[in-house]
Amino acid sequence: MSTDVVLIGAGIMSATLGTFLQALDPNLRIRIYERLDRAAAESSDAWNNAGTGHSGFCELNYTTRNADGTMNVQKAAGVAESFEISRQFWASLVHQGIIRPDFIRSVPHCAFVWGDENVRFLRDRYEAMKQVPLFEQMEYSDDPATIEQWMPLVMDGRAPNEKVAATWMPIGTDVDFGTLTRSLIERLEANGAQVFYNYEVRDIHRFNPDTEGDSTPFWQVRVKNQSQDYQENIQAQFVFIGAGGGALHLLQTADIPEGRHFGGFPVSGQWLRCTNPDIIEHHSAKVYGKAAVGAPPMSVPHLDTRKIEGQKALLFGPYAGFSTKFLKHGSYLDLPESLRMSNLVPMLGAGLHNIPLTKYLIQQVTQSDADRLAALREYYPAADLKDWELIVAGQRVQVIKADEKNGGVLEFGTEVVAAADGSLAALLGASPGASTAAAIMLTLMEKCFPDQMASAGWQTTIQELVPSYGHTLADHPEQLRQLRSETARVLDLVG
Ligand SMILES: Cc1cc2nc3c(=O)[nH]c(=O)nc-3n(C[C@H](O)[C@H](O)[C@H](O)COP(=O)(O)OP(=O)(O)OC[C@H]3O[C@@H](n4cnc5c(N)ncnc54)[C@H](O)[C@@H]3O)c2cc1C
Repeated sequence: MSTDVVLIGAGIMSATLGTFLQALDPNLRIRIYERLDRAAAESSDAWNNAGTGHSGFCELNYTTRNADGTMNVQKAAGVAESFEISRQFWASLVHQGIIRPDFIRSVPHCAFVWGDENVRFLRDRYEAMKQVPLFEQMEYSDDPATIEQWMPLVMDGRAPNEKVAATWMPIGTDVDFGTLTRSLIERLEANGAQVFYNYEVRDIHRFNPDTEGDSTPFWQVRVKNQSQDYQENIQAQFVFIGAGGGALHLLQTADIPEGRHFGGFPVSGQWLRCTNPDIIEHHSAKVYGKAAVGAPPMSVPHLDTRKIEGQKALLFGPYAGFSTKFLKHGSYLDLPESLRMSNLVPMLGAGLHNIPLTKYLIQQVTQSDADRLAALREYYPAADLKDWELIVAGQRVQVIKADEKNGGVLEFGTEVVAAADGSLAALLGASPGASTAAAIMLTLMEKCFPDQMASAGWQTTIQELVPSYGHTLADHPEQLRQLRSETARVLDLVG
């Protein structure tokens, strides 16, 4: 069996890449292999992630203080630019009738802090951010009455003399990535892509004409049909390893030089989900705070309004945890089985230089209900545990890379690893993740399909899907305003 493209995993990344490729070349033969019985059942499922349309508005870990005391907002601006790409991509698909806008809605993005130093940080951050057109609608307040209007639960029961501050961004979004992924996959299938559920990819092997006598190089992908317990081989010209936490193992089987020194560190998570409809109704914002010392940046606590499959919901977390699994539906052997001679030094180096993270995870794993309630009460002082239930979030695998100074370094972003000839690529890492899927997949296509990406045909289609492709919106404020207003109209959002 042969095909042009194999996409491994039916999560948001494969769904996004498949949608781009099918639009760019409708004749491409695309096969998607998914080990579970449905799409988006791992990290892309709505309850497995926080559904924040990460735009740099509320995530305090994206802004840091420079040594001279000024604020560095570059990372936040980069994430905001990437989200604008996703917004345009989704709006184009909705405009063409490919998907419905039921997966996204406006939820203000807020940052909330307490204490003198944090209030100073937030004010300076706001002053720096409002100079950037991407953040021009942001508001700041340290007036408790204003903050109470923005986030009543957060101020309910709080000491009146506590020093607090918040920022408010009305154009933030909540995204149900599960619904979006399933819509994209259904559409891919309707347009001719073949989707195989209950098929686990076991091995990826390169056949080269020089060494093995075949005429054109190809990847042989070995898949196991889990329901009927047999294996088969598929030949593919291009393979994308979009297997989320499962990507590292598959990259290791492909054994490309570019992928040899990577390791992975799993971080699990839990949410508190509110079960009281009155409380859920009382809150309509995503409120992000500051991460605890040693906490990985994506473990910043937040009190989040969600809209999942049409229902309003409220969650708090994530509480981090540790499990050696790389996928929520994975195996406890995932971490030990990822160890190789080639990634041992980076893994040890990263471990030795992340003792605060280890301490933080031990503290998180051993916490009691009372500890969880105490964390929730920092954001909702009047909270009572009887109104909340504990649920398990998705599993994240942080990237560990080789590093000259320390041997290895733990990264919290995402990393596209591509073979030099562009015939295979994998996506490792977790954050900001799903929100920036369109931008990540454009970068991947630039690496893997450089000639086609430069061609007039592909350029035209990409410009139709993402009108701002190729330039930075922060440098074109008029276009930014126009695109935000157009995409808001199509996606039914606050402009
Ligand atoms: C707790 C948490 C909170 C998050 N919050 C946010 C947020 O607020 N905003 C945001 O933008 N992002 C967030 N993310 C990140 C986001 O969820 C991920 O970046 C995104 O879902 C990853 O998509 P994916 O397609 O790469 O992986 P996944 O959705 O995990 O999909 C990978 C698929 O591959 C399949 N698979 C694995 N191995 C194999 C194999 N060998 N063969 C066949 N199939 C295989 C899996 O079953 C799975 O279906 C969060 C993640 C977590 C865990």
